[in-house]
Amino acid sequence: MTHPLPGFPPPQIRRLVIKIGSALLVDPAGQVREDWLRTLVADIAARKAAGQQIIIVSSGAIALGARRLNLPKGGRGSLEDAQAAAATGQIALSQCWASLLHAQGITAAQMLVTLDDLEHRRRYLNASATLDRLMALDVVPVVNENDSVATAEIRFGDNDRLAARIGQAARADAVVLLSDVDGLYSANPHVDANAMFIERIETIDARIMAMADGGSASGMGSGGMTSKIEAAKIATGAGTHLAIISGKIDAPLSHWEQGGRGSIFLAAPVRRARKGWLAGRLTVRGRITVDAGAERALSKGNSLLPAGVAQVDGVFARGDVVDILAPDGRVIARGLSEYDSTDAAKIAGRRSEDIAALLGTMPRSVLVHRDHMALV
Ligand code: GLU
Repeated sequence: MTHPLPGFPPPQIRRLVIKIGSALLVDPAGQVREDWLRTLVADIAARKAAGQQIIIVSSGAIALGARRLNLPKGGRGSLEDAQAAAATGQIALSQCWASLLHAQGITAAQMLVTLDDLEHRRRYLNASATLDRLMALDVVPVVNENDSVATAEIRFGDNDRLAARIGQAARADAVVLLSDVDGLYSANPHVDANAMFIERIETIDARIMAMADGGSASGMGSGGMTSKIEAAKIATGAGTHLAIISGKIDAPLSHWEQGGRGSIFLAAPVRRARKGWLAGRLTVRGRITVDAGAERALSKGNSLLPAGVAQVDGVFARGDVVDILAPDGRVIARGLSEYDSTDAAKIAGRRSEDIAALLGTMPRSVLVHRDHMALV
């Protein structure tokens, strides 16, 4: 595995998610810290110019909205307050991102998602496809949790884990959490003079978990080190590196790239991570038997095209997990189906060019995309 260099340079890291916490975006008086943000956007523009695709996960809606509505406890006193604050703050937040990115010649897009959106397979695939399309169109998506509709039980609540899940959905190479701390310490550096800085984390074990302090240092966002380590677990398990770096300085990405401090959690090998995710977390709803040509194509790492399908069994929806079987009945792969079972049966054995006529819709060209498939 090629180890990432400090700064996740563009050639190695093609697709990068950058998460910005509330305390960096909003000052204690409730105003956007525009001067700082401009330096970050300049960093982003430089990375884009170097060929990197960027997705922003931005907090700050609740902090901004709370101030405008004069709500107590930074808008976090009750769920209703947080939802009203988020709705009020989000519109200002997107305006700010859109205009700062525009000033660098970059088109911004907004995506507001809930935890449920990313847990539900079909919506997860849709979010993933939208992110892909935006990247292809050279747009920078600005993502936040849709706090004004998410209920207490189905909230991320912190954007650290949201950023990790977005990284997974976007198949990003890395996630960077810009924070008010510069990384992970063996103990709380504010109270323990012997606290050691941890630069590289290969495995997130009980020892690493114990280093988290819980709670948010700034009191403005909701993520402390615990949610950052949880985010690191999600990201690395999905084959994505995650870094925590300080956003307390101007141009934080170039500062880091030039040798600034940061903690890097290294990704688990991708195949194992995807296999674990597919094997462990979802129910298999259907079986797709392929012909010998498709079996060979899959073993080389290609996607499954409808043309290679001999038979479809079971009742499944788009986004459900299906087993893929060789002509002799052996399970050779498992993946997420891009079509439901009725449509999959209709297009089995047919060439991609015929699918539009058969289904009457603009088709997805593959039945199971290689990025959503694990060979077994
Ligand atoms: N989604 C929340 C906001 O925009 C932030 C959550 C967090 O604190 O990470 O205000």
